Amino acid sequence: MKKTKPCINDARSHLITILIPVFNEEAVLSKLLQTLDQVTGSMPYKFEFLFVDDGSRDNTVNKLRFAKNRFKQIRILSLSRNFGKEAAVTAGLQYAKGDAVILIDADLQDPPHCIPEMVSAWKQGADVVLMKRRSRHGDGWAKRTYAYLFYRFISYISDIPIPTDTGDFRLMSRQVVDAVNQLPERNRYMKGIFAWVGMDTKIIEFDREQRAAGITKWNYLKLFTLALDGITSFSYKPLRISFFLGIALLATSILSMFVSNIGTTSTHEVIDYNLLFCLITFFFGLQFLCLGVLGEYIGKIYTESKQRPLFIVSEFIESHDDNSRSKQ
Ligand code: UDP
Ligand code: MG
Repeated sequence: MKKTKPCINDARSHLITILIPVFNEEAVLSKLLQTLDQVTGSMPYKFEFLFVDDGSRDNTVNKLRFAKNRFKQIRILSLSRNFGKEAAVTAGLQYAKGDAVILIDADLQDPPHCIPEMVSAWKQGADVVLMKRRSRHGDGWAKRTYAYLFYRFISYISDIPIPTDTGDFRLMSRQVVDAVNQLPERNRYMKGIFAWVGMDTKIIEFDREQRAAGITKWNYLKLFTLALDGITSFSYKPLRISFFLGIALLATSILSMFVSNIGTTSTHEVIDYNLLFCLITFFFGLQFLCLGVLGEYIGKIYTESKQRPLFIVSEFIESHDDNSRSKQ
């Protein structure tokens, strides 16, 4: 496929989508819209603000509808329930019309003032502009440590390199968005999917801010599940590890049969029940762990085989902006 890069002179004819998944974000919306409008207003491009409402139960959608009177570039895609951020992003990418799409969180932790720098990197030829977290002042130490360990572990275990310390905050060219939209899998670990697509990538560092208002939608269980999904969607090394663990334990057992002269032990020797208990629980634990790993992969096959859509759209409200193009 021949690559066509946008040319400097025709900037105004380019549409850029700012894609924002929102779930119960009423508290932050007005600040977000003001900031986005301020930043994008001074840039020589057309913009659409595509909000994907991921089944919000607060006033998010009403506020967005109301804001449409002032910000004509708003489009609202409402999902029928809370499908999770990964599905919301998938939906947004399918509805985005822009020549480039910038994916950004609603809570202003991903600072919109980085947008001009991202767009200029795209203009200079990058297909993906990846925003790498230089610092995460907005997150507590526990989450920072968790994220640090997780990113390193997943990039070690994954079959394709997944960049460390990068979240979803990024710009993608139309070519990249089209490529992502072609991937049919139901288990969507987006950071892995983006990495899998590849293309010319430029990395820009930024400082992750604190959430401007509202509360985080993540808890440690959700983060753990996401991590597990990420690992099992992009690598089958855990299966290999269980296999090699089995071989190693079997070899140890056979060796110890010879070394400890089984059968010659006299019956009146005292059995150490504590040791026995530890050994039994250890090996049962190990077996269940390996079964669990296997189960994760079987679960993935089960989800894929059902072939359900990734999300259901309950309503789609187009922008009032005359400049906006119809969906290609
Ligand atoms: N989000 C979503 N669906 C969810 C959870 C979160 O669309 O089920 C959105 C949320 O509204 C926000 C972004 O994903 O725009 C990041 O969420 P959050 O700030 O709660 O995550 P954190 O930054 O704490 O990891
Ligand atoms: Mg956040």
